[in-house]
Amino acid sequence: MSAPEPCEIAIIGGGIVGSAAACALSRAGFDVRLVERGAAPAMTDAVDYDPRVYAISAGSNALLEDLGLWDTIAAGRAEPIQRMQVWDRDPARSLRFDAADAGAPSLGWIVEHRVLVRTLWAALPAGCARTGVGLQTPRFDPDPALPVRLELSDGSSLSAQLVIGAEGADSSIREAAGIDAAGWSYASTAVVCHIACSEPHRGAALQRFLPSGPVALLPLADGRRSLVWSTTEADAQALLALDDATFAEHLQEAMQSAAGDLSAPTRRLSFPLRLLHAQRYVAPRCALVGDSAHVIHPLAGQGLNLGLADVAQLCADLDTAKRAKRDWSALRTLQRYERTRQAENLEMLALTDALGRAFSLDFPGWRRLLSLGLRAVDRMAPLKNGLAARAARSA
Ligand SMILES: Cc1cc2nc3c(=O)[nH]c(=O)nc-3n(C[C@H](O)[C@H](O)[C@H](O)COP(=O)(O)OP(=O)(O)OC[C@H]3O[C@@H](n4cnc5c(N)ncnc54)[C@H](O)[C@@H]3O)c2cc1C
Repeated sequence: MSAPEPCEIAIIGGGIVGSAAACALSRAGFDVRLVERGAAPAMTDAVDYDPRVYAISAGSNALLEDLGLWDTIAAGRAEPIQRMQVWDRDPARSLRFDAADAGAPSLGWIVEHRVLVRTLWAALPAGCARTGVGLQTPRFDPDPALPVRLELSDGSSLSAQLVIGAEGADSSIREAAGIDAAGWSYASTAVVCHIACSEPHRGAALQRFLPSGPVALLPLADGRRSLVWSTTEADAQALLALDDATFAEHLQEAMQSAAGDLSAPTRRLSFPLRLLHAQRYVAPRCALVGDSAHVIHPLAGQGLNLGLADVAQLCADLDTAKRAKRDWSALRTLQRYERTRQAENLEMLALTDALGRAFSLDFPGWRRLLSLGLRAVDRMAPLKNGLAARAARSA
């Protein structure tokens, strides 16, 4: 067996969060390896949009700007969100947010998954990424002073001062570090696709709360909208089985024609929804970022934004410790990251969970009360603009 390849930081998982961490930490001067069990992303443009798109906040935009990557991402069909309309029973009685009223250039951007991953991977230093290899059962040495040895599925190994788990919800690094995670399934599934609409979107994101879950239509640069329809597992299966024209009719009815006539949906994908929160984000020689640490309902479009905020914070804390010539991989440094990010992430987890639950209750009077609440907030300009400004910069 060959000797392990030494590095300072090994990041396991090369999704958006892991590859952003690899870019940010490499730029801060750390010797990083990124291990991704899948293939490297395709570097060429695809004709149609990726079915997975994300609403990216100003916080995520700032990180990507700092990495010098935003211009490339923006040129890859990113669409600014100029306004949002949220309602439950009647679109005429919506809560409306406008970027201009909040004094922000936009409330966020809609960006394709593929464009984000490809841009981040293209910016990795040569020799940083190992693709098509997974981890053999990872094990942390009981002596925290020793580097962590990671055996890879191709028979090679790495020896790292710090391991970052960025493998998504089912993180083997989280498990190997002995970090418990709490959570539950929402017994709900998100159906996603893109769809043509007769009404021009003018940069508006629409979201209707139904008792079965929220339905959101997000603006795309080519004039279509991207759908995230969260509903019961049975309803999701039924929606996936419909022919295109009937599916478009169902969606139009669910959105009360707020986007006009709908047609030509693209292939539908589905994602089971869950909530998960790691009880700790760090352990000796280990830190978790992104969905490895927290998985959130997509109704506020914040999961990835929280993950990128983890990356920005962890990179800042490690960089500060390294510049001060402290042991940057010491548990004390990692715990600083944990304190900052856990508080913010928990707040967003709790808020989205409570919102989802509030709108799923369907007893007499309650939904009318919610509608009145939305209408009342819509009339309170300072509160509403404060919420819009918070949404624009969140995470
Ligand atoms: C329907 C839906 C809509 C959403 N919309 C938004 C939105 O608008 N805005 C937003 O901010 N968030 C949104 N999210 C949340 C967002 O998708 C996630 O938070 C984000 O993708 C998590 O990224 P990640 O890199 O942490 O994890 P993942 O995307 O799960 O990436 C993990 C990576 O690790 C790799 N991997 C796994 N195990 C191993 C291993 N053992 N060894 C090596 N590699 C491994 C995987 O192949 C993968 O590449 C949405 C989620 C859903 C379901």
